Amino acid sequence: MKKILIWCAICFLVINTGCSITTRDTLTTRDALTPGNVHLRLGNPSGANASNPNNYLMIKSQYALSYNRDKGIPNWVSWQLNKSWLGSTDRTNDFRPDPKLPNGWYRVTGREYRDSGYDRGHMVPSADRTNNQENNSATFLMTNIIPQFPDNNREYWREFEEYTRKLVRKGNELYIIAGGYGGNKKIAKGKISIPARLYKIIAVTKPGSKGNDIQQVIAIDTPNLKGEGNWQDFITTVDAIEKKTGYDFLSNVNKSVQKVIEGKKYSVKGNSNRSRKAKRSGKCHPAYPNICIPAPPPYLNCKDIPYKKFKVLPPDPHNFDGNKDGVACEK
Ligand code: MN
Ligand code: MN
Repeated sequence: MKKILIWCAICFLVINTGCSITTRDTLTTRDALTPGNVHLRLGNPSGANASNPNNYLMIKSQYALSYNRDKGIPNWVSWQLNKSWLGSTDRTNDFRPDPKLPNGWYRVTGREYRDSGYDRGHMVPSADRTNNQENNSATFLMTNIIPQFPDNNREYWREFEEYTRKLVRKGNELYIIAGGYGGNKKIAKGKISIPARLYKIIAVTKPGSKGNDIQQVIAIDTPNLKGEGNWQDFITTVDAIEKKTGYDFLSNVNKSVQKVIEGKKYSVKGNSNRSRKAKRSGKCHPAYPNICIPAPPPYLNCKDIPYKKFKVLPPDPHNFDGNKDGVACEK
């Protein structure tokens, strides 16, 4: 009798393991889990679902995320960004626990980051949801927040956020995924983990294409600690972030397309990188008082730089102000 029981237990284990393997395999069709959600159009990177507390899928009308209960932070947050999400609502600033977390789970409050030395770092930025108050307020739910070192949050991370909105104002529609990985430090008596690195991936598409025409992918992987930098310094490939996190980003994109776009590093247009570095080393030419452009050589044209309609004083060594009205690169 005992033998039969043990045999049955083994049997049960094998069958169950078999089951979970099958489930894992079917996760290549991950969006069967989340049909048609706009924020998961390009995929569910970790196969987040309703049964794993540390890879727990939450879908809101403003964004979707995988929550990690033991870490008290999201594994990733994913959202669409186009002009329809942008408006003029002010920051609601109502950091608060997410009431949609299952009953009995610890709910991080807006106060626990206090005195930790870390900012309450938005994954979906407040400024990406300004079309109405309800949508803006949703970005202040603590399930959208990760401890973020101020140097990161307030400098290059913020500048990259601004860059993504600039792409939207130019008429693009973006699909964005941000999250953290690594690290073993915690705050709030061990209830909130601090990732060592924070990454963001954006897929640039045309509005109405439903994500089917990715024009460009930009991926950055940044250190969540003290230090300066430009977001451009942290450009990497999606493949590299997949390797670090174990996730499959853009999993809904055709495999052969993924192979190409995930292996390619975004190249920064113009020389914004070089000019910002020059700014820090004090090599900005005084003829361009509101921006930073080093003296030639090399001689630059308007199309080489990321600025438009900026103030120019004589002697304008790059000759940006062709019509000599004191404003350069008007077009
Ligand atoms: Mn921020
Ligand atoms: Mn992928």
